[in-house]
Amino acid sequence: MIEFKNINKTYRVAKRQAGLGNAMKALFSREYENIHALNDVSFNIQDGEMVGYIGPNGAGKSTTIKIMCGVLTPDSGECIINGRTPWKERVRHVKEIGVVFGQRSQLWWDVPVIDSFELVRDMYKVDEKRYKNNLDELSQLLDLGELLKTPARSLSLGQRMRCEIAASLLHNPKTLFLDEPTIGLDAVSKIAVREFIKKLNAEYGTTVILTTHDMQDIEALTERILLIGKGRILLDGNLDELKKHVSERKTLVIKYRGKAPEICGGMTLVGAKKGQLVISLDPSVMQVSHGIAYLAAQTEVLDISVSGITTEEMVATLYKEYSI
Ligand code: ADP
Ligand code: MG
Repeated sequence: MIEFKNINKTYRVAKRQAGLGNAMKALFSREYENIHALNDVSFNIQDGEMVGYIGPNGAGKSTTIKIMCGVLTPDSGECIINGRTPWKERVRHVKEIGVVFGQRSQLWWDVPVIDSFELVRDMYKVDEKRYKNNLDELSQLLDLGELLKTPARSLSLGQRMRCEIAASLLHNPKTLFLDEPTIGLDAVSKIAVREFIKKLNAEYGTTVILTTHDMQDIEALTERILLIGKGRILLDGNLDELKKHVSERKTLVIKYRGKAPEICGGMTLVGAKKGQLVISLDPSVMQVSHGIAYLAAQTEVLDISVSGITTEEMVATLYKEYSI
């Protein structure tokens, strides 16, 4: 279980002004400014949950993850993970967590991946039998094969990310932190990574906290999302409920032969091309089934699909609503 309570974190950074004169001045007297990265942030995450931690760049996501990993100490507040305070009992804490930062590598750049894995094994004191089992299983699931013999620097981004994820799991962590794990990956690698995380959670009950800008990651993996903006938690809830809260409207895509059907009250035309209309429907004015019947009575319908707002639309609406 993760308890994150009233956490504040401020970074103190030297102010820098352009120009050589200012650079010289800065050598003698530095001006500092404070960046409030986290402002009274609180949430709880139960064992076995998968949570999507979303928010725009600079919102405070990585800072939160670093605090939960014990890398950063907050200015105030409490964080208890599996009964420990990460930055106070770092050594024991890190044995129970796995971390992947999509933007940074934990693999040794110039040596074969397997050497980095062995370093991880020694660091975490994973016994030989368990190491071998985990390595076999991870190699198979993440299709590592030949990659293990390759130096990290020669891997493609997708290959490297699969190795990074394996490295973070060699010691069977209870909790996995993934900070933008699919950034820059191609479609196939993204799906492989998602499938793997899903399996890990289903089979081992691993708790997963995931930050991403890819809403398909969120859709595929998490039921619950935490929204952070400007260092504050703005929303915490079920993805489907949040979507409904943002908009109940449905989008109908109707393909037809012959004359285009007319729309009626409760419908707005969003797009039209030959033989196809995209209509936004407000179910509080007209029920979806009545809307479909109304359209179908006027033309020969070839195909029709009904969908709620997408996660992208929801997130874009939320970012606008909260001005973040
Ligand atoms: P996110 O991961 O959501 O993009 P971060 O947690 O990385 O956001 O950053 C939150 C804020 O703190 C940003 O304004 C960022 O510029 C600032 N920040 C992050 N790390 C540092 C640091 N090491 N020193 C100074 N400022 C930082
Ligand atoms: Mg970040």
